[in-house]
Amino acid sequence: MIVRPDSDMSRLSNLFDLTGKVVLLTGGTRGIGRAMTDQFAEAGASLVIASEDVDACKTVESDLTRRGLEVLGVACDVTRAEHLHNLVEVTNGRFGAIDILICNAGIAGAVGPMSEADDAAFDALLDANLRHPLRLSNLVAPQMANRGGGSIVLTSSIAGLRGNRSVGLYGLTKAALSQLARNLAVEWGPSNIRANALAPGLIATGWATAILTDPFAAERRLGMTPLRRIGEPWEVAAAALFLASPAASFITGHTLVVDGGTLISDGN
Ligand code: NDP
Repeated sequence: MIVRPDSDMSRLSNLFDLTGKVVLLTGGTRGIGRAMTDQFAEAGASLVIASEDVDACKTVESDLTRRGLEVLGVACDVTRAEHLHNLVEVTNGRFGAIDILICNAGIAGAVGPMSEADDAAFDALLDANLRHPLRLSNLVAPQMANRGGGSIVLTSSIAGLRGNRSVGLYGLTKAALSQLARNLAVEWGPSNIRANALAPGLIATGWATAILTDPFAAERRLGMTPLRRIGEPWEVAAAALFLASPAASFITGHTLVVDGGTLISDGN
């Protein structure tokens, strides 16, 4: 039997409306994740956001609660399996089953050639950037399926779509996220769960500081980006909102690049 989406969904006012949806977002306190917190809450969702910093979680929670939005901040180290279990339990207890999972928390790791990195450095990157999205997806997808569907968005990077001299191990973990999105899309698509990845270019968070404070690196980087600027956190959040929302209801297993054209440029 062919199941087709409700045609009411096609109305502009419904395409980005997340009223009544429950969102679990890791790394929602700073940078790109903070912009996601604002946009998803403003779209009507109830959110649980997680970071290691309990004070940051509570500050964001109270900022948004004051604005009449529904956000709960939960301290969680995403590299620890028991913390992820707790995160899902707390979300279910407070808001019910999860409709949208955004795995955004990530670390860059040390800069340098892969030949100089040890196993511990690689393990730390794998735990934060790849195991956490895999573990959370495995915890959350069954409840999405029971509910009739859901959406998963994984924050990857353009570092996972091209070769890197300085952040090679980071790039390995981010490349794997595109594959994770494809695998999840295939495994869970028949249960109406979509899974996609986002690949930002250089975005104005703490991560950009090292490049922007080095005039040579900044000029080189902007020179290879057709839009000649770095991105803003809200521009990535908007892409996440699109992928998670009914507007992207027929998009799954995709990696959406949000980079001002860096990846497609010949550098001129
Ligand atoms: P920030 O460092 O500004 O924010 C990272 C967020 O992740 C924070 O909320 C941080 O909270 C959380 N986090 C990190 N480690 C953990 C952990 N172990 N447990 C729980 N939370 C954790 O980063 P950005 O906003 O710049 O990056 C967000 C995502 O975007 C990352 O996955 C990154 O790889 C990706 N990205 C960023 C780009 C950029 O130029 N900014 C480019 C391409 C991809 P806390 O430290 O309090 O735990």
